[in-house]
Amino acid sequence: MDPRVAELHHRAALRPDVIPLAGGLPADDLMPRVALAAVLSEVAQSRDALQYGWPEGLQSVRDWIAGRLVARGVVIDPEHVIVTAGAQQALSLVAAELAHGSRIAVGAATYPAALAAFASTGLEIVDEDRDARAHYVIAGVANPQGVDLIEAQRTNLIASGAEIVVDEAYAELRFDGELPRPLAIDAPDRVWHVGTISKTLAPGLRIGWLVAPARRRAAVLERKQASDLQTCSLSQVALTRLFGVIDYDAMLARARRRYAARADRLIAALAHYTPELRFREPEGGFSLWVETDEHGDDIALLRAAIEAGVSLDPGHMFRPPGVIAPVAFRLSFSNAPPDSFEEAARRLAAALAAWRHLE
Ligand code: PMP
Repeated sequence: MDPRVAELHHRAALRPDVIPLAGGLPADDLMPRVALAAVLSEVAQSRDALQYGWPEGLQSVRDWIAGRLVARGVVIDPEHVIVTAGAQQALSLVAAELAHGSRIAVGAATYPAALAAFASTGLEIVDEDRDARAHYVIAGVANPQGVDLIEAQRTNLIASGAEIVVDEAYAELRFDGELPRPLAIDAPDRVWHVGTISKTLAPGLRIGWLVAPARRRAAVLERKQASDLQTCSLSQVALTRLFGVIDYDAMLARARRRYAARADRLIAALAHYTPELRFREPEGGFSLWVETDEHGDDIALLRAAIEAGVSLDPGHMFRPPGVIAPVAFRLSFSNAPPDSFEEAARRLAAALAAWRHLE
C-alpha cells in the first residue's frame, strides 16, 4: 500500500471519532463468533489441528471447496484444489507462476493488493490490452466497482486465449444471490480460480483457495510448500467442524440482506449530503466506487476527510500504472455502524468542500 495512505489510515484507526469507510472489512456482527469459539476450543484438543498437514490442504476443506464449484458446473475434483492463506496467497502464487515480465491486463481500477502481488513478481501491469498474456478479473462483484463483468467482457476473455486470473472474493455476496457462471467452465486450461472465506466468515482464519490449470498445479504446490509448508491446520480443522454446526448458505443469505441494507443506507445518506457524487449502485460486496470529474490530489482528500472525521480509500491505490484519471475514491459500507452513515456523509461533504478550497 502507498505508505502515505497507510500512515493516514493507521492514524485514523487510533481515533475513535473517525467513522471508518476505508478498508474492506466484513461486518463484525456477521461473524459466527459463538460457533467458532466452540469449535476452536474443541479442535485445540485434536491432533490434526495442531500437527503438520499436507501442502495442498486438509482433504475435508478441499472436498468442500470442490463440492461448491462442482455444484456450479465446474469439472473438478478435490485433488485440484490448493488451500491457501486467504485469496491473497493464491494471487501471490499465481503472480509468481506467470512469466516474469509478461503483461497482465487488470482494467482501469482494481484491488490494490492484487496490483502489489503482480508488481512484486515483475509482471507488467496495464489497464487494457487485448494481446496481454494474462488478465485479472474480479468476477461476481468487482472491487472497487461493486458490479459483475458484463457479457462482452466474458466473451472476450474466453476468446482471448490468454491466462485468466479469476478472483471470486465477493461472488457469494451478490445481493441477488446469483453466482456468476465460473469462467473455469469455459476456459479450464487457462483459468486460475481464486476464492476465499474471508468476506463471508472471517478473514482472521486466513483460508482461501487456488485452482490452477492442471499442467501448472504441481509447480504451484512446490512453490507454496517452499514458502509456508502448508496452510494453518488449526483454521482448516476448525472450518471443517464449523460447517457441521452452521448453515453456511443460510448465513450467506443473511449476510447478503444485511450488506444490501447497509448499501442502501449509505446511498441514501450520500444522495442527501453529496448529491454531486457519481457511483454505480453496487450489485453486492462491501463498497461504492465514487468517481468525480475533478483532477487533484486524492491523498489531500483523504487528509481532509480524516480531519472532518471520516475515512475513505483514495482512488489512486486502485489504478494500474499509467492510468491518469479524475479523482475517485472507495467508500465501504460493510463495517462501520450503519447508524453513523448519515453523519459520515455530512462529514464527507464538509471534507470535499475543504479539499476543493485547497485544490
Ligand atoms: N481479492 C479481493 C478482490 C479482495 O478484495 C481481497 C480482500 N480485500 C482479497 C482478494 C484477499 O482476501 P483474503 O486474502 O483475505 O482471502
